[in-house]
Amino acid sequence: MPEPLEQLEVAILGGGPGGYVAALEVARRGASVVLVEKENLGGTCLNVGCIPTKVLTTSAELLSRARRGAEFGLSIPQADVDLPGLMACKEKTVEQLVAGVEQLLRARRVRIVRGTGRLARPGLLDVELGGGRRESIAARHVVLAPGSVAARPPIEGLDLPGVVFSTGALQIDRVPERFAVIGGGVIGMEFACIYEALGSRVTVLEAARTILPAGVDETIAQRLQSLLRRRGIDIRVGIDVKAIEATSDGLRVLTQGPDGALVVEADRVLVATGRWPNTDNLGLEECRLSQSGRFIAVDDRLATSLPGVWSIGDAVGGWMLAHKAMVEGRIVAENLTGGSRRVDHRAVPNVIFTRPEVAGVGLTESDARAAGADVKVTQFAFSANAKSRILGERDGVVRLVCEAGSGRVLGVHMLGPHATDLIAEGSLAVQAGVTADELAWTTHAHPTLPEAMLEAALGFRGAAIHMHSR
Ligand SMILES: Cc1cc2nc3c(=O)[nH]c(=O)nc-3n(C[C@H](O)[C@H](O)[C@H](O)COP(=O)(O)OP(=O)(O)OC[C@H]3O[C@@H](n4cnc5c(N)ncnc54)[C@H](O)[C@@H]3O)c2cc1C
Repeated sequence: MPEPLEQLEVAILGGGPGGYVAALEVARRGASVVLVEKENLGGTCLNVGCIPTKVLTTSAELLSRARRGAEFGLSIPQADVDLPGLMACKEKTVEQLVAGVEQLLRARRVRIVRGTGRLARPGLLDVELGGGRRESIAARHVVLAPGSVAARPPIEGLDLPGVVFSTGALQIDRVPERFAVIGGGVIGMEFACIYEALGSRVTVLEAARTILPAGVDETIAQRLQSLLRRRGIDIRVGIDVKAIEATSDGLRVLTQGPDGALVVEADRVLVATGRWPNTDNLGLEECRLSQSGRFIAVDDRLATSLPGVWSIGDAVGGWMLAHKAMVEGRIVAENLTGGSRRVDHRAVPNVIFTRPEVAGVGLTESDARAAGADVKVTQFAFSANAKSRILGERDGVVRLVCEAGSGRVLGVHMLGPHATDLIAEGSLAVQAGVTADELAWTTHAHPTLPEAMLEAALGFRGAAIHMHSR
């Protein structure tokens, strides 16, 4: 017999996008919820991740467009960055959104406990409240949503002044003349584009063959790499970073590359070599909760190996993205209030806020071919899209990976203006199993960027309107 919802107690550890969404949704379903958070509500995403970085990418984009004012028939004599103003804008946006989350939680009567929690046993969280005070929270269900932290690679010199991880890179008191980024993944490339727009000379040091090696369509990663190199970002690939040293006027990054030793001088060095699940000191080993490496192991309903203990978000691995954590928050809320929903991450969009942006969903061409699918790839260049011309953003492409016979869309990958917004149509197409023909017969407004998606779909039958193909 399922328990009556009003008697069901749920304790959630971690108030990031996974944990706070789970709390809101459990409360909406009528159960009582306690949310334990040791820092700020909103977690990495709102405080030191998605939101502050996107304030910076937005201002960086505006700045670089303002500097191109003449192209748009505008006279903008001096477009420059006001760093204190930029930092204030970032902090205000974060504060407003964090306050909004707190209001929502209070409105749904979620009890917020400020403290550091650990699992004492299934059904019991131990919370250190500070000042030697503790609270034990008993609950029928416990949801672990502790998120992730920046990985610390085995490189000497990580603690030198001027060496920062992503949280440190968000604080900019002075634009460094030379900015080096260790790791050309999502976070590294977003910061590379931010600092480049602010005026730094940027060097990216990536171990793999291209930037954005994980989960991004290879042709798109290659195109972005060439574009950014043309814009002056010095991207070095196949690089093994050994150490960082202090010099009389800054820092020196010692590396080994395909052509031998390479030394990069910098004033600020960002270490962006991935994220680790934040699973230390949570009581997991003591409770014998199964892990998959450092991650918390869960089944497809997000249940852990212990009864009544669930886990979501970055801590369980897969795409380490806020929207993936949020959907898992909704799934777990449904499952612990009597439902039985399984995780379906086929259509989680991957979004990268570089300039231009990158986004993708579903299978890449190489994934699909490796899985034995007979695929046909159809693409359309943004240079042939009217709105891209109007925006002065002509670089980029939309690629649809379709099943060769049926035309079913298996994946959508794009580089270009507003790609992170445009990918929503791709997510729907992949999730709903839409075909290229169905997309092609969906009328898209003119002149808009989504027309690039329409034209790519038309291209499946060689029928693109605004591009000549033989
Ligand atoms: C620089 C950067 C930029 C990013 N940009 C994007 C983006 O544009 N789009 C996107 O989708 N994703 C982005 N991400 C990733 C996104 O932030 C994460 O995927 C998301 O925050 C994960 O949500 P979560 O709820 O699993 O964990 P988190 O957001 O990490 O939240 C976990 C919470 O748990 C708390 N906690 C941990 N341990 C305890 C404990 N023992 N007791 C009490 N509380 C605890 C933490 O304080 C934290 O508040 C970015 C990340 C970074 C670092």
